[in-house]
Amino acid sequence: ISFENLAGYAGLNKIWEALPEARLVGGCVRDLLIGRDVNDIDLASPYTPEDNIKKLQEKGIKTIPTGLDHGTITAVIDRRPYEITTLRRDVETDGRHAVVAWTDNWQEDAQRRDFTMNALSLDQQGILYDYFGGEADLKKGRVRFVGEATKRIEEDALRSLRFFRFQARYGQGEADQDACKAIKQNHALVRNLSIERVASELLKILEGPEVGSIIALMQQTEILSEILPHPDPENLKRLLACQDPPKALPRLFALNPDPSIGRHLKLSRMQQCALKAYANNEPILLPGGSDDELRRLKVAQELSLLIDRSWLWQAKELGKPSKEWSHFRQRLSLLPQPEFLLTGRDGMELGLPPGPNLGIWLKKTQNWWLEQGCRPDKEACLAWLKEQVSSDS
Ligand code: ATP
Ligand code: MG
Repeated sequence: ISFENLAGYAGLNKIWEALPEARLVGGCVRDLLIGRDVNDIDLASPYTPEDNIKKLQEKGIKTIPTGLDHGTITAVIDRRPYEITTLRRDVETDGRHAVVAWTDNWQEDAQRRDFTMNALSLDQQGILYDYFGGEADLKKGRVRFVGEATKRIEEDALRSLRFFRFQARYGQGEADQDACKAIKQNHALVRNLSIERVASELLKILEGPEVGSIIALMQQTEILSEILPHPDPENLKRLLACQDPPKALPRLFALNPDPSIGRHLKLSRMQQCALKAYANNEPILLPGGSDDELRRLKVAQELSLLIDRSWLWQAKELGKPSKEWSHFRQRLSLLPQPEFLLTGRDGMELGLPPGPNLGIWLKKTQNWWLEQGCRPDKEACLAWLKEQVSSDS
């Protein structure tokens, strides 16, 4: 296997000098095998975390103990992080947490990974270790559990959700029947997962490819209604038909049009705010709007939010892609973001005393500037402010 796609990861060779037995594992091996860009590099090592740290430090490599509980340290070389995890085997699992022990047996470590294509490892000579037929599955587009699907889902129900993420990215043809059957039979187990883990996996599915068919598969296997209170796949389909941008949040909102979904999934404050803005039904943007109007809106609202809302509105009202709207969005993104240039210092130079009044004057000036379509430059804003202040006193 060629390491060509790892050109940006020169530090790997240094790690291999310190830990010659370490191997690349997980996603990066999978993506190297099919010539995809590699996201981040994960390594596994048969040494204990303490030994990994010692051996790396002996070669002058900086290490950070990022997750010692589960055996992970991070080596930093040329500012790039490399996660190195000690080989593990499961001692016991309760469907939510795993108790693990270190091992120096590569197959034992591969066995606890979720899918055959995720259980590959690659050493520094470029030799691939494939204990469960992962390479063949990957090339055929089969996402298959390592071992018996039902047992693997009972150990950790998040794997049911992960299945859909990998099926979307690597699946070809019909999804693995054993997997789908086991997921359906055990759909209720996802109720026991922490909502944070569920939400993070759901957002990854929603920003990935093949969303329409994957959501349909999640519905068939009865997973969808376990994780969302009011799923509406038909509504999502309308958004997807409008060639939406592959963004998770508007897709989530289209799939479950209820702003309280953000609270339910314990999303971040920013994400919850965006969902609330989507719920506001006014189109706010209309293709006929003048540049002046648009400039004003751009200052008042975050641009990406405006664009998301325009997609959702279009999907809801038109239900199909429209040339007028795509031209409009292009015009919107080309319009430079105007910036209001007056600061408190400018106000004080005009003789305004510092304090709350200064802020009010600036706000007034900014509103005037917005009304003028953000055209007045700094000089003109200063002149306007000066005139207002003098006529006020
Ligand atoms: P991506 O490119 O999306 O990061 P990835 O394969 O690296 O894909 P991660 O979620 O980063 O996915 O997980 C890294 C590896 O850890 C996986 O390839 C898999 O081998 C293993 N893994 C992660 N989560 C689980 C899980 N719940 N059960 C079993 N193995 C898992
Ligand atoms: Mg990863």
